[in-house]
Amino acid sequence: MQNLKNKVVLITGASSGFGEDAALLFAKEGCKVVLAARRVDRLQALAEKIQNGGGEAIAIPVDITNPADAVDMVKSALDIYGQIDILFNNAGIGRVDWFENHSLDRDIAMLVQVNLTALMQVTRTVLPHMLKRREGHIINMSSVAGLIASPLITSYAASKHGARAFTDALRREVTPLGIKVSGIYPGPAATEFGQHIGKNKTFGSVRKTFNTRMTSAYVARRVLDVAKRPRRSLIIPWWFRVVTGFDTLFPFAVDWILFAFSKKNHKLD
Ligand code: NDP
Repeated sequence: MQNLKNKVVLITGASSGFGEDAALLFAKEGCKVVLAARRVDRLQALAEKIQNGGGEAIAIPVDITNPADAVDMVKSALDIYGQIDILFNNAGIGRVDWFENHSLDRDIAMLVQVNLTALMQVTRTVLPHMLKRREGHIINMSSVAGLIASPLITSYAASKHGARAFTDALRREVTPLGIKVSGIYPGPAATEFGQHIGKNKTFGSVRKTFNTRMTSAYVARRVLDVAKRPRRSLIIPWWFRVVTGFDTLFPFAVDWILFAFSKKNHKLD
């Protein structure tokens, strides 16, 4: 088990949800936490909360879709702490609707940029420093949508499948050089995420029927577990492992179920 005391952890998307809760837990373990996101007021409040509790944290306002911002963020973290031990690539946005309603700018280009391109760009900026030390852990936030492709979340599933492929390819590339790479695949959880994904009647009723959302604090605790005991992937809750296994073994059966779902709910008029 890894001792996290004094480790430097860079968290993207630290202004709410999993990132915020994970930051509090990493700080409790004695980590120096670098908080990154766009909402600077939220980051500063979190940094103060951590500092008032005796921990160490800095807030760096950043839009990760801007490569220059991402480079500055990594530079600031390195200038202040000298190293980055754990990179938690967590920032993400979503969109729920039938694909013909997805806008090109926000729901396709921006979504892929935040969830995939920026994640790769931030990693590309941090990785050389980890490689130099032959040490480090990259934890990438994907989703069960990165394992099972479902209707209503086409763009999101594409971006999160991309994040999974990148995570697996990178792990196979850098593990022999001392860098650990893990993928996190949560099912639905109660965070602000739901407020930004748009409204869709069908999705709303699915959510009501299967109201099994995890808490953000639970997901954050499991992220901390992964930091302490690095592994290739974490799928939560556990029963999604059964669902994803079923999709891998019997994709035609899952197709059939989801065809029926779309036929019933996807009204064109
Ligand atoms: P939140 O909406 O609470 O958090 C998203 C975070 O991403 C915020 O801190 C936001 O900060 C940050 N972010 C978004 N865009 C940018 C940007 N351009 N630059 C920098 N930061 C950005 O949602 P969650 O905590 O739920 O989501 C965290 C991750 O978990 C995401 O990757 C999401 O896809 C994934 N996930 C979520 C699930 C859920 O059901 N909640 C399930 C599975 C995975 P700010 O707006 O201040 O920039």
